[in-house]
Amino acid sequence: MRKKIIAGNWKMNKSFQEGLDLSSEIINMVRDEVHTATQVVLCPPFTHLNAVAGLIGNAVNMSTGAQNCYTETSGAYTGEVSAAILKSVGCSYIIVGHSERRQYFAEKNATLAKKTDAVLANGMNPIYCCGETLDERNSEKHFEVIKSQVSEGLFHLSGEAFGNVVIAYEPVWAIGTGVTASTAQAQEVHAFIRGLVSEKYGIEVANNLTIQYGGSVKPDNAVELFSQPDIDGGLIGGAALQSRSFVDIVKAMN
Ligand code: PEP
Repeated sequence: MRKKIIAGNWKMNKSFQEGLDLSSEIINMVRDEVHTATQVVLCPPFTHLNAVAGLIGNAVNMSTGAQNCYTETSGAYTGEVSAAILKSVGCSYIIVGHSERRQYFAEKNATLAKKTDAVLANGMNPIYCCGETLDERNSEKHFEVIKSQVSEGLFHLSGEAFGNVVIAYEPVWAIGTGVTASTAQAQEVHAFIRGLVSEKYGIEVANNLTIQYGGSVKPDNAVELFSQPDIDGGLIGGAALQSRSFVDIVKAMN
């Protein structure tokens, strides 16, 4: 059975105190209401990570994730934060290659491959994002784009290392827009990604891979999306900023 993972990507939102309040609400609701093995990952801004990890404590089904990291371990890289430093504040997951990083910070697959290596070298799980733009989908290039994002960012890994990777399929046209990919569109791409992984690493590795969907997931569309055979969780943006909607999405995952 592969792991089911719901991660909340807060992006650049919430003051420190707001972040602690939101985390406490989510932690209490998850403890009282979530009775499945679903893993819940909170990805606040860097500045909040250590305190959020402290609030989570040793709850087995919850952990923290960062939204990004740098490729190098330490040194004269003003303003950057390394995977090793993130590990030291209690992170278990790091989002790599979110489309906003690709779009606003010009992150390319080759850099993302190095970030993935840094995350894995420090014993954490990368959540590696891929997804096409609207133009790419309209010109039917989405499979090609996703294939190059996944293969160039991840396929240098050994099968063993790949076992610690999570992939998030996030069509760029569905992120923060209120437009969700249809369940059929999402399932089709998830199955395609699993097929690519199977060709490269074999069926067992592919079957164990968690593939999250992201893009305007809300409590009212989550059940249908998560019922698809190749959708193993969600990467949630807007709806993760409110405890009730986020926990309802977690509860939709069975
Ligand atoms: C995201 O930021 O990864 C995301 C999916 O955002 P939203 O849920 O707001 O579309």
